[in-house]
Amino acid sequence: MTDLAKRTWVEAQELLGPDVVAIVPVGSTEPHGPHLPLDTDVTIAVAQSRRAVERLAERGVRAVVVPPLAYGLTNYTDGFSGRISLRPGTLWALLEDVVTSLEQLGVRQVVLSNGHLEPEHVAVLRGVVLDHAERGPGKAHVVLADNTRRRWAETLGDEFKSGDCHAGRYETSIALAADPGAVRADELGELPEVRIDLLAKMKEGVRTFREAGADRAYCGDPAAASADEGADLIDRLGRMVAETALETWPDLVR
Ligand SMILES: [Zn+2]
Repeated sequence: MTDLAKRTWVEAQELLGPDVVAIVPVGSTEPHGPHLPLDTDVTIAVAQSRRAVERLAERGVRAVVVPPLAYGLTNYTDGFSGRISLRPGTLWALLEDVVTSLEQLGVRQVVLSNGHLEPEHVAVLRGVVLDHAERGPGKAHVVLADNTRRRWAETLGDEFKSGDCHAGRYETSIALAADPGAVRADELGELPEVRIDLLAKMKEGVRTFREAGADRAYCGDPAAASADEGADLIDRLGRMVAETALETWPDLVR
């Protein structure tokens, strides 16, 4: 059982303590093309977190997935329906309170396991990490499993590396593996590839998908997605989350 939310308080009391790694999935509620649901980033964050718990268990490290954050900063999808965005301070406070609560339950290792890659959103997560930079008496150490870092990005396929990966082949593959009933297959087959060089556009100051030319809230090549590729990506993402924990807290391995 990987999810804290499915335990009773009695089971939580037995599980949570100084040797456990708490994994906090962070997603968003935002448009993901005409073929994926608004909670796609939550699905991705939870899938990689659950995989990480399995990987850590193989190393003798106890870990648990705490309930996911379904909201993030989603300024890029401004202008599309279904977007619900937090202000930076709200996201920061929300994460801060989750960490504080985990600290009070005895947890000393927290990994933010993020599925939403908008730069301003990631910047808030990095800020929270800076505020919790080490373990100490009564204190939890927080790290970010950061797939925008080159080391991990390079393991996630060409589309991911290119930056044109919003609801494209990468995310659609993961959705096909983790939440297949949510993918609109009829829409998916018809979608043309959208190449907009999002990273370059961001450097030029473009601040929304619409401005960048992604007028159906996706870019990349969703029609090329497959469930097999998605399962492989979840495995790689789970490895990233697990390795981040193992490299940060090697003393947990027994
Ligand atoms: Zn996404």
